[in-house]
Amino acid sequence: MSSKRKKHVCEECGWHCVGDDKILKAKDPFYGYGELWACPKCREQSMVRACDYPYCFRPTSSGIPLNGKVLFGKKYLRLCSEHAVWLDKKMKEELG
Ligand SMILES: [Zn+2]
Ligand SMILES: [Zn+2]
Repeated sequence: MSSKRKKHVCEECGWHCVGDDKILKAKDPFYGYGELWACPKCREQSMVRACDYPYCFRPTSSGIPLNGKVLFGKKYLRLCSEHAVWLDKKMKEELG
């Protein structure tokens, strides 16, 4: 298993996983393409990507490009609000 497997978290109940094989999936009946994802614990369609920071499973909604740097094996990170602040600070420190 690769450490690059994406983390997901349920915004409703906090259930989380690495990779997406435990998430309930169904073909989208409205559009006929794509998938609807639901949490296997609470059955809500509230699975979102979790923070890319190691051991952090807080929900994220946006991604931050690293301007050519690689962190945690990625060139682009999705971070929770706390780690977005952490990254912003780190980038500023590295720029001097
Ligand atoms: Zn849930
Ligand atoms: Zn985080």
